[in-house]
Amino acid sequence: MSDTWEHIRYEEPAERVARVVLARSEMANAQDYTMLAELNEAFDRAARDDDVRVIVLAADGDHFSSGHDLRAGTDMSDIEAIGTWCCFGAEGAEGYMATEAEMYVGLCWRWRNIPKPTIAQVQGKVIAGGLMLVWPMDLVVCSEEATFSDPVVAFGMNGHEYFTHAFEAGARLAKEMLFTGRAITSREALRHGMVNEVVPRNELESRTLALAEHIARRPPIGLTLAKQSVNNTLDAMGMYTAIQSAFGLHHVGHNHNQRLFGALVDPSGLQVVREEA
Ligand code: ZN
Repeated sequence: MSDTWEHIRYEEPAERVARVVLARSEMANAQDYTMLAELNEAFDRAARDDDVRVIVLAADGDHFSSGHDLRAGTDMSDIEAIGTWCCFGAEGAEGYMATEAEMYVGLCWRWRNIPKPTIAQVQGKVIAGGLMLVWPMDLVVCSEEATFSDPVVAFGMNGHEYFTHAFEAGARLAKEMLFTGRAITSREALRHGMVNEVVPRNELESRTLALAEHIARRPPIGLTLAKQSVNNTLDAMGMYTAIQSAFGLHHVGHNHNQRLFGALVDPSGLQVVREEA
């Protein structure tokens, strides 16, 4: 548990507020499976603590998260599954679909439904899988220089696995982000309702904490009912079904690339993304 976490830190910066921190800044907080499993444990700890009313997700370093750590591999043998998927090492599409259903869509959906308010505190770059840690949170406070992108169309894919792009950015901007791979700025994100507040970098932590403390003065039952009411509205609009539909298409992409290039994604995408960075 907490004393063995490698890539996560758990803090209690104020009464009734827990803060989970991505602590892999030397890798721009790239997510390997160890980090995701630790993050899940930390969220569970905060969710199950009666004294915690609001959970902040923050990150060390210059960048919130550069996405999935592609060099870390997809081996599940050291990971204890939280959901009910199995056969992670199976051949064909079976094993990898189960792996992504467990580690990406499953965990993100689990965190999205924590019955307490969650706030993402975001600085620097948020790339592809990085969005999968921001979007499941209820509120987002970001610094002025923060940018958000999902450039994986260049890799022959539809987007990252927690496909809520149209819900988060609106359909028009979601398509532009995906088609061009362009990073949108904090101001654009604010204008399109993707974030709640844009603040100077040196005020990011204090402003996020102030928001968390303000919310934490409300009774937990009110917060839970309000959160679930909004989430239920999004679900009635088809959010979960949309995620699952896009996940199926995502695996068409993985299988297409596997057949053509012997890899889960088109390897030429890396060069394209580097040239445009
Ligand atoms: Zn994938």
